[in-house]
Amino acid sequence: MDRIDFRSDTVTWPTPAMRQAMANAPVGDDVYGEDPTVNQLEALAAAKTGKEAGLFVASGTMGNLTAILSHATRGDEAIVGEDSHTYLWEAGGMAVLGGIMPHPLPTDAVGRMDLAQIEASVRGDDPHWPISRLILVENSYGHKHGYPIPTDYFAAVRRIADRHGLAVHMDGARLFNTAVALNLTAADIAKDVDSVTFCLSKGLCAPVGSVLCGSVEFIHKARRTRKLLGGGMRQAGILAAAGIISLNEMVERLADDHARAQTLVQGLAQIPGIVAQPEMVKTNMVFFDLSDDVPLTTEEIIVAMREKAGIWLGALGERRFRAVTHYWIGDKEVELFLETLTRILNERL
Ligand SMILES: *Cc1c(COP(=O)(O)O)cnc(C)c1O
Repeated sequence: MDRIDFRSDTVTWPTPAMRQAMANAPVGDDVYGEDPTVNQLEALAAAKTGKEAGLFVASGTMGNLTAILSHATRGDEAIVGEDSHTYLWEAGGMAVLGGIMPHPLPTDAVGRMDLAQIEASVRGDDPHWPISRLILVENSYGHKHGYPIPTDYFAAVRRIADRHGLAVHMDGARLFNTAVALNLTAADIAKDVDSVTFCLSKGLCAPVGSVLCGSVEFIHKARRTRKLLGGGMRQAGILAAAGIISLNEMVERLADDHARAQTLVQGLAQIPGIVAQPEMVKTNMVFFDLSDDVPLTTEEIIVAMREKAGIWLGALGERRFRAVTHYWIGDKEVELFLETLTRILNERL
């Protein structure tokens, strides 16, 4: 990479093996269902998530929107975490394009909506009210340290959904990070939801794409929704070829990213002026704060990190940062991060 980029795992470049596979991928018209590489990726994704079928989409946002529009329609309501990606970071797509009302609920320290509150939010049959149709969950939970939520929670959500005839969709942008962190399979994590999306383009290093997985019947419907959204991509096997490598070769190594995130957060917790929570770091995300006595702004630190060491870091609020580890961040880069931040703070304390 041309810089040391801790802002996100979305910045990952495709690996040399991916570029090779992309150059050589057999392709066809995927809207006709004739791209062998896309078909192979979709089948592989379905097998990994324990679902019957998969659908290759351009992004995680498109995957979630495709799922939501396939589960629900105008006048329906979706129960969703108030700091979840589908509610906060997807331009309000479900409302803008689907006429679907989000019903946001608070989440706890690791991103779980309260079960009793979910159940109490399900509406009865009254002509005044929207129709409860869908529960949206997320794992790992981006806004809460990328925490991998254990599966018993989703089993409980499933029971609520079944009592009331609702569907459950999981935004599993980092599903494989969760699986690796919990030492389970992606299928274990997704077993209690009707549909799941995961990103190939984050820690798994592919340049583009996500896969939506669910039943054959659901994916048949979702294929129409994807077309409606302009997501029928023709010779998309060029992109899917990288995704196949993601699933076959890039999953287990996510443990390295998680270990480096742990090294990073433990180092951060030792730096005066920094507040970090090592116990919350289970995947590849490290959130940390600048304590009030540090006479520097978040922006000044970001600029100093860039100028002194070529390290790019993201702000996530007034005094809060987020650093994400990935394929292109090694032990040396983590060490440099800690050294540089220590130096910047020492110069000013
Ligand atoms: C990245 C992400 C998405 C999808 O993002 P795209 O940039 O559209 O691929 C969805 N949910 C979560 C939690 C994410 O982190």
